[in-house]
Amino acid sequence: GALLAQMLVDPLGLILRWYDELQIAQVSLARLVGIREIEPEPADERVRPEGRDVRAADVRFGYLAGADVLHDVCLDVRPGTRVALVGPSGAGKSTLGRLLAGIYAPRTGTVTLGGAELARMPAERVRRHVALVNQEHHVFVGSLRDNLLLARTDADDGDLWSALAAVDADGWARALEKGLETEVGSGGLALTPAQAQQIALARLVLADPHTLILDEATSLLDPRAARHLERSLAKVLEGRTVVAIAHRLHTAHDADVIVVTENGRVSEQGSHDELVAAGGAYAALWRSWHR
Ligand code: ATP
Repeated sequence: GALLAQMLVDPLGLILRWYDELQIAQVSLARLVGIREIEPEPADERVRPEGRDVRAADVRFGYLAGADVLHDVCLDVRPGTRVALVGPSGAGKSTLGRLLAGIYAPRTGTVTLGGAELARMPAERVRRHVALVNQEHHVFVGSLRDNLLLARTDADDGDLWSALAAVDADGWARALEKGLETEVGSGGLALTPAQAQQIALARLVLADPHTLILDEATSLLDPRAARHLERSLAKVLEGRTVVAIAHRLHTAHDADVIVVTENGRVSEQGSHDELVAAGGAYAALWRSWHR
């Protein structure tokens, strides 16, 4: 991708220090910076979004040939809304999330942003608009500044500190003797999982994408750290379109649209009240959770 090329040309020293980690973290890095892991058609500089709606149309996708994980998925995410993907484990929620973020391209069908196909857009352009957020800890060997600049290479220290403040990380970061110069990652300062997560959120604030695909994987954090982080996350989500992959029903019920996936298909969608009234799979799930 273009970003990776730019990173290789520009902060060469930085990349060299990361090299060992890059080998291990290739997949994670690809997700972080939004580089597509499958690129069936060449990107076209002229493909630009006109609008902010994200739409999946008749999407089929599989990781392995002959084994589709998503079948004819259609989904319309209106700008400014919160959409929750629910469904049994293995239904394809995370996979759909990766497609909506442009990390994978559909085998057939399209995923579009503002009418433009993500698979045809330069990866960097996709990344400016849509980001995937998950609990993988993306901290690389280098300084705190290096780790933040990944999200926006032209940010100045003021921008970096405001981003840290926006995710409630400025307290501990200001207490560091070397501040933004502090080396982190293996061999450097050992960040707690919550601090690493805050760095990832601060990067989001810097990159400022209007749409977030949020994979709410079960937290490995202790309850207090988790609550603290949830508050920071809520601030970051404010004003953005959010597609939340909800592994717990209680985080889904107040979404504008709940999308139920089963066996790689969208089986129902609507608001909580609509789906409960419809008496289908969601209603059954909801009842079983409240028994
Ligand atoms: P969960 O709630 O457990 O996270 P999910 O609904 O998010 O499940 P996916 O993770 O999208 O479901 O998985 C859908 C199917 O795709 C599963 O059969 C899974 O084994 C498979 N799958 C997921 N990721 C990969 C991968 N990277 N390579 C190959 N198969 C995968």
